[in-house]
Amino acid sequence: MGTAISLEKPKCVIWAAELTHRGQAIRDALSSRSQQRRFRRQRKTRYRAARFNNRRRSAGWLAPSLQSRVENIWTWGVRLARACPITSLSQELVRFDTQLMQNAEISGVEYQQGELQGYEVRGYLLEKWGRQCAYCGVKDLPLEVEHIIPSTRGGSNRVSNLSLACHDCNQEKGTQTAAEFGHPDVQAKAKQPLKDAAAVNATRWALFHRLKLTGLPVEIGTGGRTKFNRIHQGYPKAHWIDAACVGESGASVAVTTGQVILLIKAMGHGSRQMCRTDKYGVPARHRLRQKRHFGFQTGHIVKAIVPTGKYAGTYVGRVACRATGRFDLVTAAGKVTASYKHLKTLHHSDGYTYQKGQGALPPPDFRQGYPAPIR
Ligand SMILES: [Zn+2]
Repeated sequence: MGTAISLEKPKCVIWAAELTHRGQAIRDALSSRSQQRRFRRQRKTRYRAARFNNRRRSAGWLAPSLQSRVENIWTWGVRLARACPITSLSQELVRFDTQLMQNAEISGVEYQQGELQGYEVRGYLLEKWGRQCAYCGVKDLPLEVEHIIPSTRGGSNRVSNLSLACHDCNQEKGTQTAAEFGHPDVQAKAKQPLKDAAAVNATRWALFHRLKLTGLPVEIGTGGRTKFNRIHQGYPKAHWIDAACVGESGASVAVTTGQVILLIKAMGHGSRQMCRTDKYGVPARHRLRQKRHFGFQTGHIVKAIVPTGKYAGTYVGRVACRATGRFDLVTAAGKVTASYKHLKTLHHSDGYTYQKGQGALPPPDFRQGYPAPIR
């Protein structure tokens, strides 16, 4: 996920970051826990009542892996607001604007609007047809927007009559309908609405409601709009550039070539699990109750000056602590082992780890860029 802070006047990006969530790690930890509990219950040791089906979920409940995304963004919002005066927020709320697509057939739409609408429609179609040709299933080829019932035979421009086809299939199909072309399934699928399109993206909505609590004006945009803004300004694909291009205010924003971005990765605050298991879920080793060893804690950013030995040198990195006092450091130069005696804390663990991002714009990637709008 990208974050960018832009000045209001002139509109340019002055700070940018990319935040990596730990949704998958949370999922893995929770499913591992539930497996171990199930195993414990089934072991013939003593009776344990099942305690999983008597809970109720509160309204607005999100899966922990999704909730953590909302919390991560909130944490960073609060931190940034502390560091600089923020006057407004922009959020990409939905992937495509279904409203804009519904009105597709209003005549006399301005050129500019029509083009933006084309982006929304293409975004929707790519999602609906799985980014592949609806007829032969080919991927990684430029796809053309195609009428299921050709317009020459009375087919409309509505999204329910559109699909994506590779150039060859489109040519071969010609003026046939999808059913005549031997694909009644395409015709059937086109009638089903895309569930996601109704913007039922729980996480984004939860975040939106949270952002409104700040009292700042929250501008919302769609994924189609973001892409439209980005491509029209000639910027390559990157999360932080997308963040700068969100919504109406992202239509003209300056991005400098030398922009240094902060790569933030959510690491969590450790685990409460005292008993680690082997791969079969059998208790194997026990952890100490204490988190701090020799004044250090896993996650601190430390400076190591190692005088002698294999790892002699000066390093800065994230430390993983052990009770023995020999710690592992993840540094730019790779993994380093050092004694606590040679370490100095630079930054206390705050649940995130940091890296400096590329100083230049990433290479342009227009493969996913949209070709001409629908005619
Ligand atoms: Zn094809």
